[in-house]
Amino acid sequence: MCGIIGVIGKEDPVHALLDGLKNLEYRGYDSAGLALKNYYQIQVIKSVGKIANLEEKVSDTSLIPAFLGIAHTRWATHGSPSEVNAHPHTSGKVTLVHNGIIENAKEIKERLVQEGISFVSDTDTEVAAALINFYYEKDAIQAIDLALNDIVGSYAFLILFADSNQLYALRKDSPLVVGVSDHGNFVASDIVAIASWTRQYFLLEEGEIAVLSDSRVDVFRDGKTVEKNILTLDQNDGDSSKGQYEHYMLKEIMEEPMVIEKTLNSILDHLDTFSDLTQYEQIHIVACGSAMYAGMIGKSLLEEYASFPVICEVASEYRYKNILYDRKTLVILISQSGETADTIAAMRKAKDASVDTLAIVNVKTSTLARESDRQIFIEAGPEVAVATTKAYILQVFVLALLSYQTAVSKGMVHDSSVLVEARKLPQMISEVLNRRDEYIKIAEKIYSQENIFFIGRKIDYAISLEGSLKLKEVSYIHSEAYQAGELKHGTISLIHEGMPLIAILTQEDILKKTLANLEEAKSRGAMTIVVSNQSIPFYDMEILVPKVNAFLQPILVVPCLQLLAYEVAKMRGCDIDKPRNLAKSVTVE
Ligand code: GLU
Repeated sequence: MCGIIGVIGKEDPVHALLDGLKNLEYRGYDSAGLALKNYYQIQVIKSVGKIANLEEKVSDTSLIPAFLGIAHTRWATHGSPSEVNAHPHTSGKVTLVHNGIIENAKEIKERLVQEGISFVSDTDTEVAAALINFYYEKDAIQAIDLALNDIVGSYAFLILFADSNQLYALRKDSPLVVGVSDHGNFVASDIVAIASWTRQYFLLEEGEIAVLSDSRVDVFRDGKTVEKNILTLDQNDGDSSKGQYEHYMLKEIMEEPMVIEKTLNSILDHLDTFSDLTQYEQIHIVACGSAMYAGMIGKSLLEEYASFPVICEVASEYRYKNILYDRKTLVILISQSGETADTIAAMRKAKDASVDTLAIVNVKTSTLARESDRQIFIEAGPEVAVATTKAYILQVFVLALLSYQTAVSKGMVHDSSVLVEARKLPQMISEVLNRRDEYIKIAEKIYSQENIFFIGRKIDYAISLEGSLKLKEVSYIHSEAYQAGELKHGTISLIHEGMPLIAILTQEDILKKTLANLEEAKSRGAMTIVVSNQSIPFYDMEILVPKVNAFLQPILVVPCLQLLAYEVAKMRGCDIDKPRNLAKSVTVE
């Protein structure tokens, strides 16, 4: 959510800034802007909408020669997405970009207005700029420190001072990574923004201020210098190209067999150590969005096959609820980016109560990965499409193995066929993905609809939730997932002639029950689509997936639903990789 990049010491900061912003586009935004600086002036250019608009504006503007620049994609939280609200914001000598939310912006603004300071935008960010400028006399760090004493909220800031030739960077709850090289220094919210300029980097920690000049980077904490360990980016980590595919979403779905294999190889050796959950009396799984739906599959598996009490809760609720840790608890946090603000807050809540935490995360350098007690890394590589696909599949895969291992430890499952079948998964997923023509045919039947139902029971219900969310996210079709048995307690009134209803049917024990619910909907005119691991005739359309061990079955069903959502969105002409209003990593609460 929101992207930040700063460059100093490059002859052409404009190119690096625009290039960096494009690599951060996946995070979601509604406007963009940049500031260029030389010894005498600062020039700010902003625009609403896509980066292409900013690019056009930049090429139509006579630019100052500059050796320093900051740029930003904004995802509005305070004030509409307009040019005046876009970043950078300037107040007096201070120009800055900001990711996050200043919670007490209103109070600070009132105070500053009384001091005679005026504002042009509705943003909390301009308030931060004004506050730092208010405290600024000569010493930039002192002004920043004084402002931070007053500010409550979350932030990543890149700050320019009109009379300084350095770039200041600091953060709280939002990530910043600093890239160093002998042709300039860089700072950004994600390494992908700067990976084409340098592969040497370090992570800025909360409480630190980085001061970048063309030839060096200094980091301070409480006035003292901090020595940072320079890391080198893995060859593949910054690779986020679309390759031969029309969209990142399609590319990332097609990568699922490969990433399952990679993840399996990386965790198989540690299966005993990471998955011995039996020392705990209860598990809380906490996450947001698709990660939370992956968690619901984990909950179903742990309850069903390991008789383990599990609470699965959305992080934005969990963090504010009165959570009982009366029994020995493990809190499992799931987040692709590891920077999801609510999930991080939930982790900190558990840690404050001295409860053990385990993170299932993709980005190894993320806050969640660094602050949790234990981690299981999924090997998804960069996921660029805003709607998660391959990372979600890997989260489910890890939870399936965790549940299996726990069931084994508790003596409730004895055979090892899960692990044997796990090895075959890449091949089986490929078979499912190769049947794109079938999904296109179904997409043709449903793409012009405005409402769709998904139904299922137990694990099939958790799968339905993700299928429904994926469709909503990328195609903008309104869709609801329902527990099959719950439909007739109200919502069946919405069923009308020709309305698509997708039923997930992979569990033998409740197959007949869900079929009865499907029948109820069909007899009221629903267009019925069945997704199952056994052939079920008499319905309008069918997606048949290979039958596997129950622990792994969701991993063969969800890819079909992802591809279906993709094809539907494509037919509707949607902006598939960057759906409106959505952000990839939700770093504000
Ligand atoms: N709260 C700021 C605004 O609304 C920053 C939002 C962002 O992180 O992009 O301008």
